[in-house]
Amino acid sequence: MSVTPRQTVSFDNQFARELGELAVPWQAEDAPDPRLLLLNESLAAELDLAPSWLRSPEGVRLLVGHLVPDGATPVAQAYAGHQFGGYSPRLGDGRALLLGEITDTSGTRMDVHLKGSGRTPFARGGDGLAAVAPMLREYLISEAMHALGIPTTRSLAVVATGRPVQRETLLPGAVLTRVASSHLRVGSFQYARATGDIDLLRRLADHAISRHHPDAAEADNRYLALFEAVISSQAELIARWMLVGFVHGVMNTDNMTISGETIDYGPCAFMEVFDPATVYSSIDTGGRYAYGNQPGVAQWNLARLAEALLPLLHTDEEQAIALAVGSLDRFSAQFASAWTTGMKAKLGLADTVSTDLVDPLVGELSTLLQDNRIDHTSFYRRLSDAVRGDTEPARGLFMDLAGFDVWTRRWLALEPQAELMDQVNPIYIPRNHLVEEALAAGSDADLDPLVRLLDAVTDPFRERPGLERYADPAPTDFGRYQTYCGT
Ligand code: AMP
Ligand code: MG
Repeated sequence: MSVTPRQTVSFDNQFARELGELAVPWQAEDAPDPRLLLLNESLAAELDLAPSWLRSPEGVRLLVGHLVPDGATPVAQAYAGHQFGGYSPRLGDGRALLLGEITDTSGTRMDVHLKGSGRTPFARGGDGLAAVAPMLREYLISEAMHALGIPTTRSLAVVATGRPVQRETLLPGAVLTRVASSHLRVGSFQYARATGDIDLLRRLADHAISRHHPDAAEADNRYLALFEAVISSQAELIARWMLVGFVHGVMNTDNMTISGETIDYGPCAFMEVFDPATVYSSIDTGGRYAYGNQPGVAQWNLARLAEALLPLLHTDEEQAIALAVGSLDRFSAQFASAWTTGMKAKLGLADTVSTDLVDPLVGELSTLLQDNRIDHTSFYRRLSDAVRGDTEPARGLFMDLAGFDVWTRRWLALEPQAELMDQVNPIYIPRNHLVEEALAAGSDADLDPLVRLLDAVTDPFRERPGLERYADPAPTDFGRYQTYCGT
């Protein structure tokens, strides 16, 4: 059945139309008893979708993929990817569908995508389903990231399907509606390249340029310009992750976007105690995707993108490689610049303060934070009090008081601004113990803890009375935190 959701909103199927080789038309599995658990009303407004309609039985059917709106061609997208360094030629949406694209109120084309909508031809051994708790988790963390000003896919809704999902135990199933400026990944290019069809690779690159990096179209070598635009947006993105202590957890090339948005909130978590070796994912036993490794991994993934793009960069392969290497070399400097700019803001320092002063100060601070096992988020938030004349809130976190005092004197001499700090250092992040508490209740049909946590983390910089427990690190008896993939 085909219905137009709202008079003013129509779906398009540009991806399916232009890149048919990467799109398998497919249908969502039916949901026996769909119930809307969460609806993101402000995102709905940005998309010009009426929340009242999305809440209606018809709207909920759209959100589980049962109702296909006019203009939409639901497809499973094909992509390849390096997972933990090993190449898989055929991954693709095993449990997801791109419903189609809609234009938001700012005129931007956005993908509407369902996750947990049933098996597709890419499902391999998987059941195509998702459990309620991991979909609530993606909703919560992606919306927290958005509120922190970090480019990310968004979450429009979570609908419980009424279909149980077999994991270690039988769990309630759900579909997440994800909204993104596209779902093009490094792995999409790897897949296109592996087909050997250069025309397909070129169409994919042109599609990426027009959607994400239109300036590249003006360059002499538009595909090299595309590559460089992806490098810049990823350098910026990873710096922003690092500044808030975000650990993605599964930075496979299929989980890295061309747009520069964060994608796929599986085993991710926010670091508490500052430590570059921080890993949460149960399967990342080698620490490949540890907090401190993220910039290096991003550059490694971008090298895989370069390999995929080579035939478009130059007709002569040697020259294509030389061009790609030259561009890839810029990643480190771009990351370092984004990081230093961000650290200046976190420390309340004017942009004019010399990097030669800031970089050693930041290096010494990292050592102090690590040696004293300091909670990353609390530290920066409390530090602004030192500018206002009270060093105790931050100082009280340290064992090495003399080390803190020496560092603080040098930092204060650079005349930091407290207000600037409070605008960029969040007080509320999705802390692991709070996330687990909210998901356990949500899985049991009690959404109140999740809604309260969402309220805190989607307005992360404004301190509010009554929310003290959302600012505190995990109690020591919470123990070591582990997260899981593909659940
Ligand atoms: P991820 O690590 O979550 O990004 O997923 C990697 C690959 O596994 C993608 O191709 C997913 O579509 C697929 N996948 C994950 N979970 C499932 C599932 N339950 N059923 C089918 N495919 C899945
Ligand atoms: Mg993925």
